[in-house]
Amino acid sequence: MQKLPKLPFEFDSLEPYIDKETVKIHYTKHHQTYVDNLNKVLEKYPDIQNENIEKLMQQVDSLELEEIDRQALINHGGGHINHTLYWRNLDPNNKINISLIERINKQFGSLQKFKDKFTLAAMGQFGSGWAWLVEDDNKLKVISTGNQNSPLIYGFKPIIALDVWEHAYYLKYQNKRAEYVNNWWYLIKLLG
Ligand code: MN
Repeated sequence: MQKLPKLPFEFDSLEPYIDKETVKIHYTKHHQTYVDNLNKVLEKYPDIQNENIEKLMQQVDSLELEEIDRQALINHGGGHINHTLYWRNLDPNNKINISLIERINKQFGSLQKFKDKFTLAAMGQFGSGWAWLVEDDNKLKVISTGNQNSPLIYGFKPIIALDVWEHAYYLKYQNKRAEYVNNWWYLIKLLG
């Protein structure tokens, strides 16, 4: 069985940037549903049922699954681990990660240039999806993915995740994704 991890903060900890109601619904309904649906898919495959889900995502192309289940694993498994990282990134107790900032400065020129690039990826993702800072071997990259596609299925290691599905911001921001993205940066403590 895959389990919903504990939210590393309270529902109202992200106020005023992300409102209590959005966090509550996003975590207890959306994230929980991905976990439930993931478990439903894995019920048919007892030998991988309790496997580390990150590992399953990395191997998703080569697992012996019916094709409809492979896609379901990508959707619900991705939905599960993407949100786990999203919450972890937003934890107000996160400390500034000096070595990550140094790497970002080196790779993108400056923290601001990285933020601009990441924001562009978040805004440019048409429809539902995610913006990411990922590691490709030792290189940092900004990418976006559609739906719940995890960077792990492309061989990348996700480091920072921004959910740009409307359910992540609609209650407070309605259609104003740019405002949500802009305010989300205030919550990314690991970058200072
Ligand atoms: Mn979401």
